[in-house]
Amino acid sequence: MQHAVKALLFAFAFAACATAPPGPSAPGDGPSPPQPVAPTPATEAGPPLVVQIVDVGQGDGIVIISPTGKSIIIDAGDRGRDKAMVEQLVADGITAIDLAIITHPHADHIGGMQKTLAQVPARTFLDPGFDYSSGIYARLLEHLEASGTKVLIARRGRKIDIGGGASLLILAPDEPLLRGTRSDANSNSVVLRLDYGATSMLFTGDSEAPTENRLLSDPDTLTADVLKVAHHGSEHSTQDDFLAAVRPTLAVISCGLDNKFGHPSPPTLEKLARAGVDVLRTDESGTITLTSDATRWSAAVAKGDPPRRRVEVGEAPRPPPAARRLPRDAATRDADPTTVSAVGYRLDINTATVEQLQAVEGVGPAKAAAIVAYRDEHGPFRSMHDVLATPGVGPKTLRGIAERFAVVAPPEAADEDVP
Ligand SMILES: [Zn+2]
Repeated sequence: MQHAVKALLFAFAFAACATAPPGPSAPGDGPSPPQPVAPTPATEAGPPLVVQIVDVGQGDGIVIISPTGKSIIIDAGDRGRDKAMVEQLVADGITAIDLAIITHPHADHIGGMQKTLAQVPARTFLDPGFDYSSGIYARLLEHLEASGTKVLIARRGRKIDIGGGASLLILAPDEPLLRGTRSDANSNSVVLRLDYGATSMLFTGDSEAPTENRLLSDPDTLTADVLKVAHHGSEHSTQDDFLAAVRPTLAVISCGLDNKFGHPSPPTLEKLARAGVDVLRTDESGTITLTSDATRWSAAVAKGDPPRRRVEVGEAPRPPPAARRLPRDAATRDADPTTVSAVGYRLDINTATVEQLQAVEGVGPAKAAAIVAYRDEHGPFRSMHDVLATPGVGPKTLRGIAERFAVVAPPEAADEDVP
């Protein structure tokens, strides 16, 4: 690792909150019947899963290395912060990223992405699919198109296997996208839960109260040991009831020293303190490295003083929460991974009619007809990214189409796995 990690500062006891297996038994909608109490097999320690909250100043830049060595990044800092990201990736020995994710298109999250991917290319890219006009975002999408990177749109329910039993579950955004909020770009941030054995972490982007309120309709999906605090600790996120649903042991805040926004906000820090949650901040500690062995997390920081409160290994774990209910779509998919019958509310792009397509804003009759003609000539689209091969269809049009259409039954059901 690039940073001289200052020894393992503390480790904290895991909470067995991820033991409900995301399997066929996961119920769908409605209240679940009482389950017989069966002995839960103890999770055994496995190879490490590493999460690095990279010190990118004011912004977010996160590297995840799965137990089998798959590499994922979530955001890449602001303009000029690609250096910190690339240095971290190089120090980790990563020469190609399996999955690059942007939570939302604001500059402090994607400003460093294009240059990062130019140096360490990504095989797959996950985008929030929220229409946003900025030069940085447009250039990033052009780069992805030119480099032939497969682009997926994040929607609630999709589960991504990252190897070794670890997975990422997309909890937001969901259809219909949130509109008319204080910041629709923030509110439609990609929210992900990382699960590995009995350990879990929640990644929130810059999601705000409207996102949290929607997520709270299924609070059991939110429980996690570690919380990446939303929006750099701003006052617009991390409501008390959201924090009560997540029930983290540790919170990490990514923010720049003396940033002009006053992040993290004192009220957010007070809420975390009241809830008894330990806090690590990149402005104080530099890059934060969290490691899970599937039974517990340990944390290390690049600089600064140890956290005030020390949480020792062996601290009594929190009481186990109610069984976790998976979003409907994930449950459907997990039941039979070979059958993908529906993707959220979206229609199959491979059976879409000209009339259905031209109902999308920005797709007139000509583009709609061109897409259907291209499909008829070349066969079914294998991914939504392939729609870009249609003459006249660019990334912006595609994002509009991807809000309503998906490849429902792809030739290979490979979308769920990081290559
Ligand atoms: Zn931000």
